[in-house]
Amino acid sequence: MPYKIICIIFFSLLFGKPALALPHANPVPGGIALVELPAAGDNIKAYFQKKRLAIVYENNKPYALVGIPLSTRAGKQQLQLKTAQGSQQLAFTVKPKTYKAQYLTIKNKRKVNPYEKDMARINKERKKKNRAKKHWSQQPVHADFITPVKGQISSIFGLRRFFNKQPRRPHSGLDIAAARGTPIHAVADGKVIEAGNFFFSGNMVYIDHGQGLISLYAHMNRIDVKVGDSIRQGQVIGLVGSTGRVTGPHLHLAVIANQTLVDPLLFLDELNPEK
Ligand SMILES: [Zn+2]
Repeated sequence: MPYKIICIIFFSLLFGKPALALPHANPVPGGIALVELPAAGDNIKAYFQKKRLAIVYENNKPYALVGIPLSTRAGKQQLQLKTAQGSQQLAFTVKPKTYKAQYLTIKNKRKVNPYEKDMARINKERKKKNRAKKHWSQQPVHADFITPVKGQISSIFGLRRFFNKQPRRPHSGLDIAAARGTPIHAVADGKVIEAGNFFFSGNMVYIDHGQGLISLYAHMNRIDVKVGDSIRQGQVIGLVGSTGRVTGPHLHLAVIANQTLVDPLLFLDELNPEK
């Protein structure tokens, strides 16, 4: 049996369905829009709110993959297209979405109200996170994600969060609860651009999938990759854990497109209840 077929069977058994070519468009704050482009080519650049967009293809048609920030107002929005001929605007519509509140109790109070001496570390890590978020690599985009961990969804993207009754930033990813030590698989081919231990996120890995599309894995028990490593889809990059600010062992998966955190479920056909 050819190696490729064996691999396909293996991944089908592991992850259920074959991977999607493109994510599901859901043009809401925290979602993504797929805006068809009038032309393709290396000299075409697309931007939303001055941030460069990934360009993806389906049936040879080019689309701008637009990550829509949670703070975006519903209504008509524009993206900018720059070509050799000049620039033009393309309109798309953002629909409203209301996110529910979530109240969590964290036993380690220091992770909710850090000590003064923790602040230097937190600020340093914020810079690292921002640098990773802004990473750009000019290469074809790998947007055909697979589910990284077998487990139960324990929290969804965008929930307005309260830790020990104190308001904090909305939930920036998808939580999949699984036993400590469960292997975490890379969602797609890519390259490790950041890996290390962070105050809130615990052991965390960022993988670049091309043109600003990045996956992020947090609270890991163990990291098995390092910055600069080339990763294949499905490769084990570490194990599920409970490092950082958590209530129990789980994988926090986040997806970044055009420097914007978006709902990972739009990329995970198998888990998406709205598909
Ligand atoms: Zn989370």
